[in-house]
Amino acid sequence: MKSVISSLSQKLRSGEITSRQLTEKYIAEVRAQNPAINAYVHYTFEEAMKNAEYADGLIAEGKGTPLTGIPLTLKDNIATDGLLTTCCSKILSGFKPYYDATVWSKLKAQGAVLLGKTNMDEFAMGSTSESSCYGAPLNPVDKTRVTGGSSGGVAAAVCADIAAYGLGSDTGGSIRQPASFCGIVGFKPSYGAVSRYGLIAYGSSLDQIGPMTKSVTDAAIVYDAIRGVDRADGTSCSTPAGKTPLKGDVKGLKIGVADGYFDGIPAEIRNAIEDMLAAYVRAGAEIVRVSMPALKIALPVYYIIACAEASSNLGRYDGIRYGYRASGYTGVDEMITKTRTEGFGKEVKKRIMLGTYVLSSGYFDAYYKKACLIRKTVEAQLSEAFKKCDVLFAPTAPVTAFAVGYSGGNSVETYLSDVCTVPVNIAGLPAISIPCGSDKNGLPIGMQIIGKKFDDARVLDTAYFAEINNLSQTAEVEGGVKL
Ligand code: GLN
Repeated sequence: MKSVISSLSQKLRSGEITSRQLTEKYIAEVRAQNPAINAYVHYTFEEAMKNAEYADGLIAEGKGTPLTGIPLTLKDNIATDGLLTTCCSKILSGFKPYYDATVWSKLKAQGAVLLGKTNMDEFAMGSTSESSCYGAPLNPVDKTRVTGGSSGGVAAAVCADIAAYGLGSDTGGSIRQPASFCGIVGFKPSYGAVSRYGLIAYGSSLDQIGPMTKSVTDAAIVYDAIRGVDRADGTSCSTPAGKTPLKGDVKGLKIGVADGYFDGIPAEIRNAIEDMLAAYVRAGAEIVRVSMPALKIALPVYYIIACAEASSNLGRYDGIRYGYRASGYTGVDEMITKTRTEGFGKEVKKRIMLGTYVLSSGYFDAYYKKACLIRKTVEAQLSEAFKKCDVLFAPTAPVTAFAVGYSGGNSVETYLSDVCTVPVNIAGLPAISIPCGSDKNGLPIGMQIIGKKFDDARVLDTAYFAEINNLSQTAEVEGGVKL
């Protein structure tokens, strides 16, 4: 893995290339490659050229940061002032917010360059990105495979080198799982470490924005640029920096391995992670076995809580305030019903109904309340485990990329593929997915490193060890902007 951001930043600072030239290269490459992989759903090239001009000014004044002048993409659920933000849903078609998400205003102020908004599962609900109203993005490693989801477009764009990096969102694995399917790095920070202001809500107690990059170094650089308290998000908090430069020091590190995380994992994936673990042990880390029986029930707990929160969050789409409005209605009630019927896709409707059901009187105690109680047990077992170890190693997903159309994005297998990622969101922990070899079909495998709450810096540093020791290679695909 090599740091795309550091090498571009150095070229920009030395004057070898201007941000305008770099942006033009990326734009040409997006135009050439995107039709084949459908990673971007809205181009923002005019904005990009404006951003680049501003960046060149900052660099000339010696005010550049590592991200100044570097082109990125944002998942289409991150609000961008005056630029389409649709969550890949018909109900938000044509919607342009009046404000920027805090993450984008922070990056923009540093002279970051926005190339466009990327494809995703509708309202971030899914694990293959196939529920997008724009059609699924395809995996650049093998175009007959899905990218994973829901931040599949960001993963595809970064993998294909048509964005230097991107920001995704992770409610139950949507940064880490597509990163693992596309052979890149995906970092989900601790809940609260990065402001959610301007992230279109799915499950508010679980949602988190984070970087998707070609290297751990890049993830740390981007994380440091977007984290921090934000008055506009009451759940944001101050966390220690990602501590760039990273050291990759793993001597004496206690790596927890939980049986629950490896149950039913195919041998290929298990072996890849064992090989990685062995390299850490050779460098002086120690393996600690931990037990977390509640991991087995984290998945249903997640789906109850996420759907409950989604049913409430999505109540605001009614044809009055945002995006799409159906035509041919006789009163307000009919207008709302028609708009929601026509505007939401099948998967989103399923989850609104499930969420409404678990919150309705008579079922609230049996489902929602019980799920909230079990959430506490999952959290307690994870913190108990973290008394014995510094980080946990686990697979990112029990599978590699599904074939396109295999499940239509909503089969039992796709829900089950979230089993390794959701406990992290339930407990608000930081976790990273790094590439960890490939399966017999050449599809990338991802390994997850999970940390204690707000120990984001340690997660990044632990992952960095794999980077500097060449244990982990991001996917190489043909084409793209490789400078
Ligand atoms: N696949 C999970 C779901 O559909 C996670 C999605 C996400 O993290 N946004 O809920």
